[in-house]
Amino acid sequence: LSSRASNILTALDIPLSSEIPGVYDGQWKGSGEVLESICPTTGEVLARVQAATPNELQETLDKSKEAYLYLRKMPAPKRGEILRQIREALAAKCGVLGALVSLEMGKIKTEGMGEVQEFVDICDYAVGLSRMMNGRVVASERPGHSILEMPNPLGVVGVLTAFNFPVAVYGWNFSLSFAAGNSNIWKPSPSTPLCAIAVTKIIAHVLEKNGIPGAVSALVSGGKDVGEAVVNSPDIPLVSFTGSETVGAAVGKAVQSRFGKTILELGGNNASIVMPDADLLMAVPAVFFGAVGTAGQRCTSTRRLYLHREIAPRFLNALEKLYASVRVGDPLVEGTLLGPLHSRAAVGIYSDAVHRLREQGAQILTGGQKYEQDHLGRGNFVQPTIAIPKSTDTTDTIWNAETFAPILNVAIFDDLEQAIAWNNGVPQGLSSSLWTRDMRNIGKWIGPEGSDTGIVNVNVGTSGAEIGAAFGGNKRPGRESGGDAWKQYVRWSACTINFSDSAPLAQGVDFSA
Ligand code: NAD
Repeated sequence: LSSRASNILTALDIPLSSEIPGVYDGQWKGSGEVLESICPTTGEVLARVQAATPNELQETLDKSKEAYLYLRKMPAPKRGEILRQIREALAAKCGVLGALVSLEMGKIKTEGMGEVQEFVDICDYAVGLSRMMNGRVVASERPGHSILEMPNPLGVVGVLTAFNFPVAVYGWNFSLSFAAGNSNIWKPSPSTPLCAIAVTKIIAHVLEKNGIPGAVSALVSGGKDVGEAVVNSPDIPLVSFTGSETVGAAVGKAVQSRFGKTILELGGNNASIVMPDADLLMAVPAVFFGAVGTAGQRCTSTRRLYLHREIAPRFLNALEKLYASVRVGDPLVEGTLLGPLHSRAAVGIYSDAVHRLREQGAQILTGGQKYEQDHLGRGNFVQPTIAIPKSTDTTDTIWNAETFAPILNVAIFDDLEQAIAWNNGVPQGLSSSLWTRDMRNIGKWIGPEGSDTGIVNVNVGTSGAEIGAAFGGNKRPGRESGGDAWKQYVRWSACTINFSDSAPLAQGVDFSA
């Protein structure tokens, strides 16, 4: 193991042994399939992690159910205090945990640390929430009666996460779910097991110090089979899944068939629209970040760019200059803006998409190749690409499928209505952004004739969101993080209580014998 990798792992208390246990339920174990964590920058095998066997998964589930019985009795503000301590522990490790995200996932250091910061932020939010998860008192039509709408915890929540946010997505779910009083079982992406182990260790340490069973934040490393077992378990009333549309559709169906609840955070196919009155000094760098940042591997990455005819040549000129200046390389090196794609398979998906564009006669303005020179050849580095497809038809795969790579497709429009129709003309509905100074455009964009996505920005790129607002898409629905998202992690009871000496029926129904 390189000294850099071993320093990061050691600082996070991850053993440098040949195989690392990837299951935690209060104790570390794992004797299932071996998962390899491969550094996308160098191809180095960082660790081998042992996944959960079916038996270990069942044991973990049993421990989580037991831990829930403990947690549900703890007053919510006390749970908030535990979250405050977890927040402090995460903040103390922000630099090194962010570095592990860069090492294992491939995003640049500032973004790796940003992800840990996001977990810290949502902990802060959940600490506050732990004193504000309020129900309601409803006026009863019957004298001497009160109706209460009560939020109570659900039980064990399954959290299945994607590779591209190996820390923050668990944070969004765990913080709210724990504040609400649930135990949590995390099934992370099989290609980022070390981030999951590091986060679980940080949380486990705080739980242990406070005498709380570790299985309130359990970990089951594994691939599709472990994911399916979580999804199909009748002991898990809520499954929160973040990942691709294809898997999300299967998860949704499976959980629905047993009447469980889901939160589905799926893919995006996000567009930016630039009007002639936009401030290009702001819009060009924002589109650059949206399309090239995280090497195009955010669910909110900008994949479609709609330019008004008047500014299109000027915009593309400036954007191409930024693309030409991008500093590509090791994500842990200060100043790097473009790291690798996460996996070899992703390079294949990128190459296939570029090939399809070429075949269909698209103009490739820049990019289109894997970087092969020098040290870049060892990693999964690809050139960020701008293409002008021949057709603007949103039913074409080029426009309507999410390609998880830095490819930006451009089309030119003459009026906003046309651009909004293109924006809305795809099956996904996660994020979108309009660049304009004109109030009338803004009014249209955010109103009923405007963008149909869950995140609708103005003079802000498609990519990156704060934790305070609910995060998620329309058409492929799901809400996490801020807003009312916490309400999904509880079971609601409508409780009618009679304080009087008679027992009248509702609606004046008379059933006297
Ligand atoms: P993926 O769908 O391949 O995997 C997601 C998780 O599901 C992993 O933990 C995986 O092991 C598990 N899994 C795979 N098959 C399963 C099955 N049959 N049953 C249960 N679990 C199964 O996604 P990925 O490639 O890791 O992540 C990229 C995708 O995630 C992109 O589409 C991206 O847009 C999306 N994403 C969405 C958000 C959001 O908040 N909307 C955030 C991050 C990523």
